[in-house]
Amino acid sequence: MSQDWNTRTKLVHEGTRRSQYGEMAEAMFLTQGFVYPSAEAAEARFDALGEDEFIYARYGNPTTRMFEDRMASIEGTEDAFACASGMAAINGALCALVKAGDHVVAARQMFGSCLKVLEFLQGFGVEVTLVDGVDLAQWQAAMRPNTKVCFFESVSNPGLEVIDIAGVAKIAHAGGAMVLVDNAFASPIFSRAAELGADIIVYSSTKHIDGGGRVLGGVVCASRDFIRGPLETYVKHTGGAMSPFHAWVMLSGLQTLDLRVRAQASNAAGVASAIAGHDNLVRTIYPGLVTHPQHALAIEQMGAGGTMVALEFRGGKEAAFRFLNALKIILISNNLGDARSIATHPATTTHSSMSAEKRAEVGVTDGLVRISMGIEDGADLVADIRQALDAA
Ligand SMILES: *Cc1c(COP(=O)(O)O)cnc(C)c1O
Repeated sequence: MSQDWNTRTKLVHEGTRRSQYGEMAEAMFLTQGFVYPSAEAAEARFDALGEDEFIYARYGNPTTRMFEDRMASIEGTEDAFACASGMAAINGALCALVKAGDHVVAARQMFGSCLKVLEFLQGFGVEVTLVDGVDLAQWQAAMRPNTKVCFFESVSNPGLEVIDIAGVAKIAHAGGAMVLVDNAFASPIFSRAAELGADIIVYSSTKHIDGGGRVLGGVVCASRDFIRGPLETYVKHTGGAMSPFHAWVMLSGLQTLDLRVRAQASNAAGVASAIAGHDNLVRTIYPGLVTHPQHALAIEQMGAGGTMVALEFRGGKEAAFRFLNALKIILISNNLGDARSIATHPATTTHSSMSAEKRAEVGVTDGLVRISMGIEDGADLVADIRQALDAA
């Protein structure tokens, strides 16, 4: 790997493995297995894998490995492992870290499926304490001698709370626990997670990394000892590996990641400041606005406000639905990080399986709409949102 390259250069070139044909684009090795020249060679490969050696795509594949190497390099970790989805990556990381009798402290405001995985772990005898992620005193108070992991989204879904990675890491490490960060909303472009003390950084690459809403994927970035030790062992035997085809799509997504994410963040900042204070809104939530409760932390931690904006409508669900139905460019869906702008009503979609009480606890009100800003023209997006706000 070329540590001296800057991110944009790495996003285009890092990790490329060319075959004897010298192909320009990354080759897609759509193969489940590999052929050995002799029985002895097969025996040797199963005994110890060399640098460019593979045995089965559930364990590793050349296209998938290119994606892993590029991700580790831009994230600043020693290694990475590609998984079938963001949830396969998060489940893999958690299962590789804990066993019955261990304790996990996690932020309460998280993607619904992350909370579900914690429930499954509780069923297997893992203890879980949920805390208000922005309150470091709660993380400190929740620590126990058997705490193995502190787990949170650095920017929470869907309320866009920003959690202090360095602050939680200090508490976790003092108690001998690992820090697991779901960094999907920050994206690798606005991530300093490794530098700030996160031990394990997970992405749903379905989001900004693909960037076109095409395929599912996830990736775990961490030390080589963790990735090629417990994480790989768990994921390769339980079947959560990424498809080589998906890795190939992700590799081309990475090439334009910096350009897209910065354009998305610039659109998000433009929209947030253009509509903040609109009569139909209780609040405009955007970490890049000075009114955001963790604005200073967001800028320090990410260097930007990110690509996501949330609006809270005064008129509750009815106003939120009128707004969504009036949008002309922005699509109603539940993906995020896409080149297309997407609006979501979490209470009736992504968080609908939660009880109304639980939703209230994590700030998912009936009037909340989450928008993932795309790369369309900024003025067109502001105009679309303005006319829909007036209709609401
Ligand atoms: C989408 C998402 C996930 C899950 O990723 P999949 O690729 O859909 O499995 C996990 N965490 C966050 C914050 C997400 O946005």
